[in-house]
Amino acid sequence: MRHCDDPVMWILDFLAPRSCAFCGTPSEGNEQGICSACFTDLPWCEPAASPTPGIFVSLVSMLQYEFPVDAAIKAMKFSRRLYYLPAFAEVLCAARPLLPTDIDAILPVPLHWRRKTSRGFNQATELAKPLAGLLSVPVVRRVRRTRATPFQSGLDAAARAKNLRQAFSIDAPLHYEHVLIVDDVVTTGTTLVQLATLLRHNGVKKVSALTVARAR
Ligand SMILES: [Zn+2]
Repeated sequence: MRHCDDPVMWILDFLAPRSCAFCGTPSEGNEQGICSACFTDLPWCEPAASPTPGIFVSLVSMLQYEFPVDAAIKAMKFSRRLYYLPAFAEVLCAARPLLPTDIDAILPVPLHWRRKTSRGFNQATELAKPLAGLLSVPVVRRVRRTRATPFQSGLDAAARAKNLRQAFSIDAPLHYEHVLIVDDVVTTGTTLVQLATLLRHNGVKKVSALTVARAR
């Protein structure tokens, strides 16, 4: 994975060891950050195990948010263990056969600029780039997180919905047929529904969503 538009990410990528993020086995062939044994052993979700909320054409989560996925995602986001990025990007690329075939743009869930500044990167954007390349579609960057929402994890569903109200904005209509929203983890789905509603109100005809993991 290359991050040519971001020098810091490019340098970190260049310095990253070419080995499996989970077991340390040196990479071989086309492996991108995870060996085939660890890839197979990940806690894969049953396809279509949960109902798709009405606003989405398709809502796919690849992995269960349990060990080692939960620990790896936290380490990636909060401790800059960036060597997990290629591994989880590969998990998203494995979703291709499960996705609608008319996707014409990908929207990574935006971070508020303040959180992006402190973290140094938006994990959803970095995870989405290889999939966008695979599908030959653009990554949408014109949606912003307008409020720095508190962490969602301590809130119940009603409080989350209130917390996210008007959390996103868009500066001009998007003329896409079918946008795929990408994020690392889905919990209640409130964030995804908020973004999907915004897209549908701003020119996008259909919306689907894909996440690396699903928390129960
Ligand atoms: Zn491995």
